[in-house]
Amino acid sequence: MPGAKNAFVEFSGVQKTYDGETLVVKDLNLDIARGEFLTMLGPSGSGKTTTLMMLAGFEAPTYGSILLAGRSIENVPPHKRDIGMVFQNYALFPHMTVEENLAFPLKVRGLGKLKREARIKRALDMVRLGAYGGRRPGQLSGGQQQRVALARALVFDPKLVLMDEPLGALDKQLREHMQLEIKHIHEHLGVTVVYVTHDQSEALTMSDRIAVFNEGTIQQLAAPAELYERPQNAFVAQFIGENNRLHGKVVAMNGATCEVEIPGAGNVQ
Ligand code: ADP
Repeated sequence: MPGAKNAFVEFSGVQKTYDGETLVVKDLNLDIARGEFLTMLGPSGSGKTTTLMMLAGFEAPTYGSILLAGRSIENVPPHKRDIGMVFQNYALFPHMTVEENLAFPLKVRGLGKLKREARIKRALDMVRLGAYGGRRPGQLSGGQQQRVALARALVFDPKLVLMDEPLGALDKQLREHMQLEIKHIHEHLGVTVVYVTHDQSEALTMSDRIAVFNEGTIQQLAAPAELYERPQNAFVAQFIGENNRLHGKVVAMNGATCEVEIPGAGNVQ
């Protein structure tokens, strides 16, 4: 029975087609617990963003239902779903200061000036940008802009935060740093996070559970260690193992060479 399992988010039999023919999400059944960090991992085009957009309310399922805190959200518009969102391209208002960017979602929700100021300060402190409230996004680095986007998603105290490749535009070092920050904030706030990435190592570092997507279906839903140790099928084994291969050259006695790839051999070059 829908809602009976006390899941915070519940997809039941969800399908999505954009053109009336091809199913880009096929019969999706997924429960997400309150406070969980759930990552949707999979190759490009596997239906992750579409799934997130249906949860956010920017796309509607063709079939099936989505419950949030036990209630159908079918007729609830995006801004009434109490969901914070962070995307790869930040989507900050360039003509507003950082503080004004953060005030926006609070004004939409009708919070008064004093409450707004307190929330903005807390959110900026959380992402360690307390001194940057007066700057415009163009005066900040990419990493700082992404932190502002994160603060804006959290400033109105949502119970659910959706993140779609939020670190995709950052360089490797900053990405790894931000992964830890996001994880820290998740643990500190106890907020439920649904995170989309095509990057296995990112998913393995951050998630409580990972839903591995391929061609619109979940291939396996499990904790990171279990995915590694007990992949359910060849796709999961190959996809999860991708950054765990030995790449190199074999030189034969006669001087001929060939490229080799040994799955599961660790990050040895
Ligand atoms: P992912 O996030 O895993 O990369 P998407 O959910 O973005 O996958 O896309 C799944 C499939 O749906 C892709 O084939 C994509 O081309 C298609 N698709 C996504 N958005 C639209 C849209 N607005 N209109 C038509 N097709 C779309």
